[in-house]
Amino acid sequence: MRRILLSLFCLAIYSLQSLAQGPHVVIPAPADVHIADGKYVYTDKPEVRIVTVRNIEGGPEAYFMKVTPKGVTIKASTDVGVFYARQTLRQMTGNGKVKEIQCCEIKDFPRFPYRGLHVDVSRHFRSVDFLKKQIDAMARFKMNRMHIHLTDAAGWRLQIDAYPRLTDFAAWRPQTTWKEWWAGDRKYCEKGAPGAYGGYYTKEDIRELLEYAAARHIQIIPEIELPSHSEEVLAAYPELGCSSEAYKDSEFCVGNETSFEFLEAVLTEVIDLFPSEYIHIGGDEAGKQHWKTCEKCQQRMLEEGFDSVDQLQSYMVQRIEKFVNSKGRKIIGWDEILDGGLAPNATVMSWRGTEGGIKAMSMGHDVIMTPGRYCYLDHTQDAPFREPESIGGYLPLDTVYVYEPVEATMPADRIHHLKGVQANLWSEYVVSDEHAEYMYWPRAFALAETAWSLPQNKNLEDFRNRALHALEVMKEDGYSVFDLKNEYGERKLAQTGLEHKAKGKTVIYNKPIQQWYPASGETTFTDGVIGGWTYSDNRWQGFLSDIDVTVDLGEITDISYVGGTFMQLVGPGVFMPEKVDVWVSENGVDFTLVSTIWNDISTSNPDLLFKSFDVVCDCVARYVRYHAYRSPMRGFLFLDEVVVN
Ligand SMILES: [Zn+2]
Repeated sequence: MRRILLSLFCLAIYSLQSLAQGPHVVIPAPADVHIADGKYVYTDKPEVRIVTVRNIEGGPEAYFMKVTPKGVTIKASTDVGVFYARQTLRQMTGNGKVKEIQCCEIKDFPRFPYRGLHVDVSRHFRSVDFLKKQIDAMARFKMNRMHIHLTDAAGWRLQIDAYPRLTDFAAWRPQTTWKEWWAGDRKYCEKGAPGAYGGYYTKEDIRELLEYAAARHIQIIPEIELPSHSEEVLAAYPELGCSSEAYKDSEFCVGNETSFEFLEAVLTEVIDLFPSEYIHIGGDEAGKQHWKTCEKCQQRMLEEGFDSVDQLQSYMVQRIEKFVNSKGRKIIGWDEILDGGLAPNATVMSWRGTEGGIKAMSMGHDVIMTPGRYCYLDHTQDAPFREPESIGGYLPLDTVYVYEPVEATMPADRIHHLKGVQANLWSEYVVSDEHAEYMYWPRAFALAETAWSLPQNKNLEDFRNRALHALEVMKEDGYSVFDLKNEYGERKLAQTGLEHKAKGKTVIYNKPIQQWYPASGETTFTDGVIGGWTYSDNRWQGFLSDIDVTVDLGEITDISYVGGTFMQLVGPGVFMPEKVDVWVSENGVDFTLVSTIWNDISTSNPDLLFKSFDVVCDCVARYVRYHAYRSPMRGFLFLDEVVVN
């Protein structure tokens, strides 16, 4: 509540002071700011004097800016520095709408050289205009890498002259939404077929986009997925898969030289088109099943002396790396490229957590951190019941913001390999451009600040105020943004915790804790910590069996209430229990059944649902047994607390 009041208070200040805006509105927070007396008042455009200096503290992107009553002076050693100074000025002047700005001195430079935003154009195609609009916004917040996920099962999105079926066929599908396509037979259709959904970028489109991005000092990193996530390629060119049949394989056949011919031809066109130093080659989530039985793949393993199919993945990645390096470029891949041995010069994008990134750093590889828990913007950003359908999870602005990329377990002499951070928006459930924009902003602000600002200059409360301000400006500029002002936030009890009679008491597990979602282990159900909107928040304990526990209250106690809350999210297979039995006992041996609570939530409801299985009673006991029966749908049971009062 305090935060909300403060925000309102600051908003009031903003509107009162909207005629004299200063560095306090700037995202990302500059490295060093000194407020001076006076204001600079201008009528048309601010008077800006640019001084090019040879060296400036903080590297080529750094700048120094001084605002006096007479005008603005910018010092920088490069065009990029000048550009970023202008972005700061642009924010201070509210895009030229604010005619009085606070006198000040700003010294500013980035913490990390790589400040990325990822766009998934495969699941749902995005227009060039949409990409340009996001590039504009990225530039405002000093982000400098746009990673475009151009290929995946849901559609190939780049013109390749040597393989026209990629865009005549593999770029189109009968269903508009990924969800319908995924739930259906996952087929493609001919370009121009009635109702065909999809699209692709011509080389002309890409050149236009590259020019636009370069003018804003943003590099575009193209991603061509291999060896997996390639169903669309293998439907268009089945001979590249192990089975040689369309709609059978996800991975390229590593035993087949034709796969390498294809990939090298595609990458040659990609490299000719994109000037990016990095070429992203994917590398994630390869199932590798067909490789185990494919004659050609087995032959390759024999010849190379491999004993695991992981080595086939790394064989392909290493050959492709050699090829990409021969063209003067570097590969970057998801952290699975570590499996089976990492290609010698590869940069790793760590998404499954940060462990992969840390491992790669200690091996001397460059790393971009993009851990799902903090950087996956496809998770819902507010209470799920108020938000558009999403892939699940809960990633509010604050959580993105508090991510600190440098961890204590990183070897100090390898931290220079940590090149930056990136926010990713996978688009399975993000159909429209407006929805995508809504998912990016304001969460990408938070990532931008983590990437640019010094950790000592980060402050959540202050950032939220700046974010509210920046959102107003973006709205005026025609962006569809999240309504941060009216954010609902985390489940209320998850914010406050809960006092009750079983808090701190011992729990006896009649069925053992399982490995997948242990939360805080044996104290989970009586720690007073209530679960949030997502089962992956380490507050919910997950079971692929019944949950059967006995709480020992330590002494005979008057009991008027026993309950526990379960969640249901049928997508990932999380269900309510079939029923819960509540038992009590004075001696821990002889138990009396107090009540059986039956489930009444339908499993056909796709929403995230919570239900308390509880009973009001009038008992005297020391032991309470809470037994939740696994749903006939099987799947997971998630429980956060056994509440006794
Ligand atoms: Zn094969």
